[in-house]
Order: sequence, then C-alpha cells, then structure tokens
Amino acid sequence: MRDYQNFIGGQFVPSSGTERVEVFNPSTGALICTVPESTAEDVERAIEAAAKAQPAWASRPAIERAKPLRVLAQKIREHKEELARIITEEQGKVLPLARTEVDFTADYIDYMAEWARRIEGEVIESDRPGEMILLLRQPIGVVAGILPWNFPFFLIARKMAPALVTGNTIVIKPSEETPHNAVKFCELVMESGLPAGVFNVVHGRGPTVGHALASSPKIGMVSFTGSVETGAAVMAAAAPNITKVNLELGGKAPAIVMADADIDLAVRAIKASRIINSGQVCNCAERIYVQRQVADEFIDKFVAAMRAARYGDPLADPTVDYGPLINREGFEKVDRLVRSAVAAGAQVLTGGKRGQGEGGYFYEPTVLVNCRQDMEIIRKETFGPVAPIIVFDEFEEAIALANDSDYGLTSSIYTRDLNTALRAARMLQFGETYINRENFEAMQGFHAGWRKSGIGGADGKHGLYEYTQTHVVYIQT
Ligand code: NAD
Repeated sequence: MRDYQNFIGGQFVPSSGTERVEVFNPSTGALICTVPESTAEDVERAIEAAAKAQPAWASRPAIERAKPLRVLAQKIREHKEELARIITEEQGKVLPLARTEVDFTADYIDYMAEWARRIEGEVIESDRPGEMILLLRQPIGVVAGILPWNFPFFLIARKMAPALVTGNTIVIKPSEETPHNAVKFCELVMESGLPAGVFNVVHGRGPTVGHALASSPKIGMVSFTGSVETGAAVMAAAAPNITKVNLELGGKAPAIVMADADIDLAVRAIKASRIINSGQVCNCAERIYVQRQVADEFIDKFVAAMRAARYGDPLADPTVDYGPLINREGFEKVDRLVRSAVAAGAQVLTGGKRGQGEGGYFYEPTVLVNCRQDMEIIRKETFGPVAPIIVFDEFEEAIALANDSDYGLTSSIYTRDLNTALRAARMLQFGETYINRENFEAMQGFHAGWRKSGIGGADGKHGLYEYTQTHVVYIQT
C-alpha cells in the first residue's frame, strides 16, 4: 500500500492538508493506495505552476512542443504491462482492454503530436486596398482537465495532448476512484523532458478539488468528462468567470436492428457494447430497438450470447469477459434501474441480479424484454451489463424512439440496405452513428454529443482546435 502525492511544477509534492482518499480494488474490496484529498491551496499552487510555465511553453515552435510528447508516448509503450495491471486493479476492466487503453493512449499522444506542423490559421480577403486580415490560432492559457474513472488513463491523454501541442499548460484532476494510473503517468512525464509546470495533477474529490478548478478565474478552459449532473455543476462554477467549458457527458445510445440486418453481426456487436468495461462506456448501446419480423430470432440469439458472458476478478482469472462495476453506488444504480423496469412490467430473460464474487460489485449479464419508452431503464444512463429491448414495426417509429432522449452522444443501426442506412444517418439526432459495427470512436473523428451529452467535443482536427482561441489581426500596408 502506497501513499501518493500531487504532481506540481515537475515534482511530487505533499498536500497542505492531512486528509487522504482511499482507493479500492472493485473486484476484491482491497485497499490499493491513498492519494491526497487536496485543499484549495494545493489547487491554487498547481494553477500557479501551470500559469508560470505557460508563456515559455507557448513560445516554443509547435514541433518542439511535440518532441517531449512523442517521448512520453514511447515511455507509455515501454511500461504497457505495468500500466495495464494498475488500470485493471483500480478500475476493474479486463487486462486485454486495459492493454488496448494503454496502446490507444500512446497512439493518441503521437497522433496529437503529429498536428504540430499542421496547426493552421487563415488569411482572409479584405474590403480595403492594401490590407491583410490574419486569423491566428492561439492557446487559451491554463486548462483544467477533470476526469471520470471509466477510461482513466486514456482520458488524461485526450485532454493533455491537444492542450499541450497547441501551447496551453494543464492541471488534471483524476477521478478519486482511479488515481493510481495518473500517478504512473506523472512518473513517465518526469522522464519525457516536458518542462516543469506544463503538466500537473491534483488529486481529490469533485466538490472540493474539481470545484476549485472550475471556479478559478485563472483557468482559461475547463475540459470535463463525466456525468450530466456534474457537467451542469462545472458549468455553473465556470459561469461567473465566463470560463470556456468543454463537456463530454453521458449517453444512452440506441441500437436499431432492422429486419434485413445480419442478425449474427448485430448480436455480436451489441453484446460487445453491453459487456465491454462491464457496460460502463458512454458511447455504447444502452437500449435496443428490434424490428418485429426478426425480434424472436434476435432475442433468442442475444440471450444465448449474453448468458455465455463470464464475469469475475480480471486479475485472478484472465479469461473472464468482464469485471466488476466500479463501486457500490454504481452497482446500486444498475440494480435499482433493473428492479424499477421489472416493477413497471419488463421481463428478465437472463440475469437481473448481483453476480457471484466475494467483495466485488459484479452484476449478471442481463436482458430485459417488454420494455417501454417511458421506463427509467430506457431513459436513464444505466452503466452496467444490462440490455433492455423494445420491439418496433416501422423504420420511422424506430428513428422517433431513438431520437426521443435527453442524451445525444451516439447511435447505431444494423441493416443490409444502403438506402435505410443513409436515411438513418440523416435522421438520427446524435453526434455519432455507427452502421453495422460496434460503438467505438476513432481518434481522428470528432466525439461530440448533442443535447445533454455535451458541449464541444474531442479528437481529430476539431477536437484539437477546441484548445485554441482565435485572434484576428488587421494589417494595413
Ligand atoms: P462524475 O460526473 O461523477 O465525475 C467526473 C469527475 O467530476 C470526477 O473527477 C469527480 O470527482 C468530478 N466532480 C464531481 N463533482 C464535481 C463538482 N461539483 N465540480 C467539479 N468536479 C466534480 O462521473 P463518473 O462517475 O466519474 O464517470 C461516469 C460518467 O462519465 C458517465 O456519465 C459517462 O457517460 C461519462 N463519460 C462520458 C464520456 C464522453 O466522452 N462523453 C467518456 C467517459 C465517461
């Protein structure tokens, strides 16, 4: 058991307070480590370090900012196995997925570093003779990155890499559930050649540390990933300073299975969506709409596939398909939503209860039929291995049901008809639509939710430019 520190100004430093946050293995309940429950003074110190480092960092050519990022990506690859085990131990995902997360993180940092030579402004035609109008893209200053626990290691990179390559410095607050991987990230930052103060981490809970970051007048932008409720609190905290917010929030993705779909493909992809990371992924299919002609076939095959999914402690048994839910609160939410669906008339075809496993918050792979659009299980983000199914008759009906949601992050449709696929792509009101494939975004895409799923987005060129502000210069010659 280790007691870790904050990472401020290029070194690990003790908190000014004495409170600690304990971190547990969700599979066994064992205590892994502690991190500081940081104080407002610690947050201020980190912001000061980031602000001090920012002008010199921004004045480097972008390609020079990219170099330490590339070193960091390489260091991450060299420590892949150790990092994957840390992620699995504190977050509960299976090792193959943790390894994918580590690889993806390194690739993501390299991808963002590659933008160094491609960051472009614009030259705009003027109405005046002899005048030039330049649109420059400049850094915002100090960015605060507030993270959830479900892809804790990757999300550090998703915020720090675009922020740093565009000339900002950053203060990260990891989730209090999964801070250990962030400590390791800091150790690798120390070996990467990034100047002191460019990258900082302050540990602690949301209402204290997260709030202190979001409400600071010295923060130029808050890049937040988490739930809708917390996103609203972050926005409110940022409002008095008119601080820019970038919000990546929850989802309730619909998956539509048309009668002409490749049913086996749909079963495989939707099962993967419900099982991956124990169903705790913002973009994965959380409600299934299947066309009546193929409903029996789909449901039979889907129930069999879900029943075959094995769960357990991923470090004790590397062959399991998924691990525990993150904590008691997460477990109780899933259980409550399933019970409320059953009380409202849904039928459990498999699962529907706590899984076996000492100490761990395991939930059985669960399939519910006879669901209705007004049920909580269809309207609220569940974040568990639970698949509620609704049968529909017409394409337009499925689209209307899919769009009827507070969330608008991702959506998917399974069909062999190109026309149906393209009509759905046009009519589905979501930031992403996956056609005949599992839900997972690419780093060169743009992950940005509609409605309550967020403001702004991440990844690709558009995600990179979120970390810049424009400066228009008029030059009369
Ligand atoms: P959460 O909202 O509970 O917490 C997220 C972070 O916010 C944590 O670091 C927490 O400490 C902090 N926080 C809590 N209260 C705060 C406050 N008042 N002020 C500032 N910060 C505060 O979310 P979670 O349970 O960690 O993560 C799960 C959620 O994240 C799900 O809703 C999921 O859909 C969402 N998510 C979205 C994306 C996306 O890209 N859209 C990706 C991953 C996860």
